[in-house]
Amino acid sequence: MRPINVTLCSTTWELAKQKANFSGWVRRKLMDEQRKQQKQGLGLQTMYESFCEPCDLWYDSSIEEKMLMFMCHECGKTCKYMGPSQ
Ligand SMILES: [Zn+2]
Repeated sequence: MRPINVTLCSTTWELAKQKANFSGWVRRKLMDEQRKQQKQGLGLQTMYESFCEPCDLWYDSSIEEKMLMFMCHECGKTCKYMGPSQ
């Protein structure tokens, strides 16, 4: 994780303060937007997979960089990168 500064006006600052996890919320919003943009693409994208052995959970994403160091949603540990799926 790397920090980034955001400049908010007094209204958006109040709104941001109401979020229990503002950073997490921003991350989610950004990923949502990217996912939507990708859906508008060709739909023939290569998906990259990561696997969490302790949880027996698979994750996939079209962003290889993300899957290389993917954190398991269950245990928070780095998943094992399994490569592209076809
Ligand atoms: Zn896990």
